[in-house]
Amino acid sequence: MESTIKIKKIKEWTIGGTDKPIIISGPCSAETEKQVIQTAKQLKANGIEIFRAGIWKPRTRPNSFEGVGSLGLEWLKQVKAETGMLISTEVANVKHVYESIKAGVDMLWIGARTTANPFAIQEIADAIKGIKIPVLIKNPVNPDVELWIGAIERFYNAGITNIGAIHRGFSGFEKSIYRNIPQWEIPIELKTRIPEIPLICDPSHIAGKRKLLQEISQKAMDLNFDGLMIESHTEPDKAWSDAKQQITPMELKNLLDNLIIRQEIPKGISFETLDDLRFRIDMCDDEMLKILEKRMKLVHSIGLYKKENNMTILQPGRWDKILKRSVEKGSKQNLNRHLITQIFKTIHQESINEQTKILDHES
Ligand code: PEP
Ligand code: MN
Repeated sequence: MESTIKIKKIKEWTIGGTDKPIIISGPCSAETEKQVIQTAKQLKANGIEIFRAGIWKPRTRPNSFEGVGSLGLEWLKQVKAETGMLISTEVANVKHVYESIKAGVDMLWIGARTTANPFAIQEIADAIKGIKIPVLIKNPVNPDVELWIGAIERFYNAGITNIGAIHRGFSGFEKSIYRNIPQWEIPIELKTRIPEIPLICDPSHIAGKRKLLQEISQKAMDLNFDGLMIESHTEPDKAWSDAKQQITPMELKNLLDNLIIRQEIPKGISFETLDDLRFRIDMCDDEMLKILEKRMKLVHSIGLYKKENNMTILQPGRWDKILKRSVEKGSKQNLNRHLITQIFKTIHQESINEQTKILDHES
């Protein structure tokens, strides 16, 4: 279902005509006045125009640093006065909204844990009603594009049209190299459903560690994202939150200098450029490989079972059922019967080889 939402381009929000990619940077959390001002000054000196700092920090577990609270707004005001940067912070309830607006915050963002809560979103959207302030909405922690779109709709229906989306990855139970798994297909789906929406990538929270920031940022650029939100700190190792993923303003400059910014999409062509489509193909292939790995592990377990119970490897009845079932299912999904037969024959042969090995060699 295509959305009827028409979002203003992020470019229109920013004073000074920030060119794509739009870069938002600053510490995960405002910690001290000195840290905030120094980070902002260093960022500004490296060409960054939009400053971020979390003041109210929703933390997954208690007893982590939960932010300096309203006091941090004074420091943000100072950043604005001394550097001329735009200032942004995360809001998670109505009080945060009122205080931020009063302090002259230029842009608000909604955190991933808040996006997952429609009641909270509705209250925040109602509080912002009638105020011309851009709102960036992070994806919910769980990989649910509907929930993300739902949050966007709630702001849109409240009359807020300066909306952008931030992709910060998704929680996963299984171990991963990422802190939050990117699942790029989800922001791509969002962009397909709401083509007008400016899309910002947050490589910091996807990566959880510095060394992945460059490649994630590049991927976002290759997918034609509109900008990046990257956490920075004058002394990252000493940060009170998210220390492992923050970089210095100088390192940020270096990262940006090394980004390859590909050509703008020519007008009239959708988000799905050839690169995007190829990227999506790669994602599908990765998924297929993961599933194959999972299947081979099951085949291995069955091999052990057969050995223990003195059963033959080839069970023609079972194989016949698998093949028929898959060809039937596949053809309902418009997949060529011959293709499915060939693929399953190859997989079956490999399963037999694997189980033969078990019967022959494993004691
Ligand atoms: C943050 O931006 O510091 C933050 C808390 O992010 P998220 O909501 O993506 O976890
Ligand atoms: Mn953070």
